Amino acid sequence: GVTEQGTGGGGFAAEEIDTSRPHPARMYDYYLGGWDNYEVDRAAAERFIEVIPDIRPGARANRDFLLRAVRKVVESGVRQIIDIGTGIPTSPNTHEVAQEADPDVRVVYVDNDPIVATHAGAKLTNNGNASFLLADVREPERILAHPELRRMIDFDQPVALLLVAILHFIPDEEDPAGIVAALAEALPEGSCLVLSHGTTDFHSEAARAAADAYKNATASVTLRTYADIVPFFDGFELLDPGVVQVPLWHPDGEPPTPAELARVGFYGGVGVKG
Ligand code: SAH
Repeated sequence: GVTEQGTGGGGFAAEEIDTSRPHPARMYDYYLGGWDNYEVDRAAAERFIEVIPDIRPGARANRDFLLRAVRKVVESGVRQIIDIGTGIPTSPNTHEVAQEADPDVRVVYVDNDPIVATHAGAKLTNNGNASFLLADVREPERILAHPELRRMIDFDQPVALLLVAILHFIPDEEDPAGIVAALAEALPEGSCLVLSHGTTDFHSEAARAAADAYKNATASVTLRTYADIVPFFDGFELLDPGVVQVPLWHPDGEPPTPAELARVGFYGGVGVKG
């Protein structure tokens, strides 16, 4: 169910949804071709698309990475998932893919955007093995101590921690590596970190475009390089093929062509805590 704290019965009053500023969750929804976005989000997203049209195939590739990685960690035996930076529901969602493999997999979703919370009751937590917390990744202790998370997750058993396309919303001064470390510390050996991150490595204009498109948004964007992103996996042993452009991570079917790859400004990887 939807947690008592923060999200009430799963319903947020419409007036709590801020339509005056672009929200990254709604901009991402727009890149993916979703309908849960407002004019203000579309206008900001279009500014980014104008400079970096590749964001749309890039966002799709990132989402597909998330789904493949969830399948992989569940196949490897993990039965609990904490998905921080859930995003607006986009079928299939983490719990749907995970529970296809095993209906007993438990998923706790965490996002700080009330619009994600409003959708959670209908689309994410409609079975007893999935919960949603309205919380901020910048408060890892609060997330870890949350009674609903404690009820759902057994910290004596491996957990998959998903931080997929969220850390580029955390600027350096808010210590993203420290946040990952604080979350990782709570996880037992054999737990997994599934992480992806937007990069400037394939689009030299991306940082400037993001600064412009997200300047009035509820979160700014800090795109990072390969060398900045790999250390987020400190304390984890990277599974093959390491940190790669997301389409290169265990592609289903044909590997991406060089032309397809050139369009994807997201790195991703999966590590196992040793
Ligand atoms: N993980 C999903 C969605 C990515 S969109 C996917 O990869 O497909 C990024 C999500 O992170 C948005 O829903 C946004 O609301 C959330 N987010 C951004 N900053 C956050 C923060 N500080 N705490 C929690 N969630 C955050």
